[in-house]
Amino acid sequence: MKHITYKILKKNTKREKMDKLQKDGYSKFMKQYFIENKELFSNLSKSQKPETMIITCSDSRIDPALLLDAHPGELFIIRNIGNIVPPYFPAKGSTQASIEYAVNVLHIKRIVILGHSNCGACAYMYHKAKEGEQKLNHVDQWLSHITPAKSASMLEVHANKNKNIFELTEKHNIIVSLQRLMEYPYIQDNLIHDKIELEGWWYDIGSGAVEIYNFNTRHFDDAIE
Ligand SMILES: [Zn+2]
Repeated sequence: MKHITYKILKKNTKREKMDKLQKDGYSKFMKQYFIENKELFSNLSKSQKPETMIITCSDSRIDPALLLDAHPGELFIIRNIGNIVPPYFPAKGSTQASIEYAVNVLHIKRIVILGHSNCGACAYMYHKAKEGEQKLNHVDQWLSHITPAKSASMLEVHANKNKNIFELTEKHNIIVSLQRLMEYPYIQDNLIHDKIELEGWWYDIGSGAVEIYNFNTRHFDDAIE
């Protein structure tokens, strides 16, 4: 352990304080965006009052603020691999804590589960480990939450071979997350009193298209018709 710490320290002292990406990006932010939105940041320094919570994948290609043209303070974002909402019990982990805080303290009005195309987490469910491949204990444990979505997708593909198992799993995973949210007692209470709305979105990275889950038809419809 000591040896590793020494190696990291040595590397950091050699490196410039910020690499090019950070330095240029931050400099641009301060000179442009921050100056143009000084009042917004001044207000945000006192408190936040987001109305929408987005639960999305950690995938680097997903940027909810860019997708929704949102400013800081507008979206409360939870990210994890696979945009998963774990079951309410056993209540442990940062996702449940973030949901609890956003609903009960910030009183957000809308929760959007934002899944996406080519999701590595969903594809991993069909991955067959090769001999000698490193075992990903935490990934395996976390992604076991996608098992119900995988089972539902396999059934659908069994009935219709033309369906894409990966896209189906991404979409079922969104539906399962929505169902789990409805089982959180305080969300149930908010739903009964019309204080909160739940939405499921599937975002296609290549085309930019968004499909929204329709609770009545149980299909995903194009966001823009
Ligand atoms: Zn993903």
